[in-house]
Amino acid sequence: MIELSWQTYMLRLRHVFRISQGARSEAPLILTSIRYGGKEGVGEGSLPPLYGESWDTATQFLQKVNLSQFKDPFDTETILSYVDQVAPGNQAVKTSIDMALHDLVGKLLNIPVHAYFGLAAKRLPTSMTIGIDTPEEMARKAQKYASFKYLKIKLGTDNDKAMIEAIRKVAGQPLFIDANQGWKDREKALDFIHWLKEQNTVFIEQPMLKTNKQDNAWLTERSPLPIIGDEGVQRLADLREASSIYHGINIKLMKSTGLREGFKMAVTAKALGMKVMLGCMSETSCAISAAAQLGALADWVDLDGNLDVENDPYQGPRIENGELVLAPLPGVGVEGRPVSQTK
Ligand code: MG
Repeated sequence: MIELSWQTYMLRLRHVFRISQGARSEAPLILTSIRYGGKEGVGEGSLPPLYGESWDTATQFLQKVNLSQFKDPFDTETILSYVDQVAPGNQAVKTSIDMALHDLVGKLLNIPVHAYFGLAAKRLPTSMTIGIDTPEEMARKAQKYASFKYLKIKLGTDNDKAMIEAIRKVAGQPLFIDANQGWKDREKALDFIHWLKEQNTVFIEQPMLKTNKQDNAWLTERSPLPIIGDEGVQRLADLREASSIYHGINIKLMKSTGLREGFKMAVTAKALGMKVMLGCMSETSCAISAAAQLGALADWVDLDGNLDVENDPYQGPRIENGELVLAPLPGVGVEGRPVSQTK
């Protein structure tokens, strides 16, 4: 019998993380477990309040899910289609089930998830993210992260240029820029993108409001750098329209409902001639390692969400010379067990 269980978990960050839409120093998680045939798969949903899910919504959702009706854990397509129709939305908690199921299947087959999807394990030169702060503090972080191959800089404020200038005094790595919908004027944004190109920037993520499709598309037509949709692209069904708005997409397992649809999104985006980025939220090593299993499909990788975590219950992926290296383990690639937190 396929058995599903879960627990809530509060992830604590070492530093406050600020973007143009808000700040956080912790993230509520739902940690799931699926047992079958003497093996246990583990999964995770990250539930920052900004995205509308919570311990309450996740728990209510999981209480409606009945996996014991399925006899064959390898029938992931049927099981996950069922999970998806239990209720609309609820992406992160759906992800926690998808992840645990793929971890389980990998462990039953004794292969890593990347091999299950027909992909190689690649060393991934991940960016390290610097949240919004004073230019001095952002420059200090940039120095601290000198070993990373890319820095991802959160912008979308009135002080963006000073931040980049301060960082550029101390760090020369190529930059990923993420405005998190923070830019308001498309002409100004385009001018600034031209300037950012001269500062060795690789791409621009979500420059303007996700609902302002017209101005995001206007920028994509004119920008000298690729424009990547993040908040504006959640799931596979969004890709058809997204291909006329952005050059590429930021796939996050917490948006896509997990590995299965994340894989389909990457493959479809490539077929549509779009760039593929793999991103994350504040997560444990479990979700980071799971996303990294799809790394061979990505043009760029931003999988650093576990690196500033104080209470990561899992071990697996590590950073070597600024590259994320998967642990040689079956499933999503982690070991360890969360200690239950008493509230
Ligand atoms: Mg983003």
